[in-house]
Amino acid sequence: VDDPNDDRIVTLQAKARQFVEERDWSQYHSPRNLAMALTVEASELLELYLWSDDGGPQPRTPAKAKAVAHEAADVLLCLLNFCDRAGIDLASAFYDKLEVARQKYPVERVSGRALKYDEYPEWIDPKPDVD
Ligand SMILES: [Mg+2]
Repeated sequence: VDDPNDDRIVTLQAKARQFVEERDWSQYHSPRNLAMALTVEASELLELYLWSDDGGPQPRTPAKAKAVAHEAADVLLCLLNFCDRAGIDLASAFYDKLEVARQKYPVERVSGRALKYDEYPEWIDPKPDVD
């Protein structure tokens, strides 16, 4: 039974896996194919914003709001399937990467600024001999 209040990643991943197995689609779900599908779904999300004005409504028409939510869900479904197949513990990877991002982007340095970490004038390369 689907429970929209149970949004734990492991629950969502189990639901995604069940959906795939019921349809015998595992045979198509290589990490490469799922990575490609992820970018396709992300592009479908982006397409809904195509030709929107920065100052205008986004998406351009309110009727697309549900489609936006569905494409966002497609992205999550593909990401969950990808991580499942690639053996990635997504929650652990998320927290690992969040810590990496915290190190790269300390609040006191980047607050309110949208530069890449190595574009800040005070940035010091921790590994200057590595390309
Ligand atoms: Mg889609």
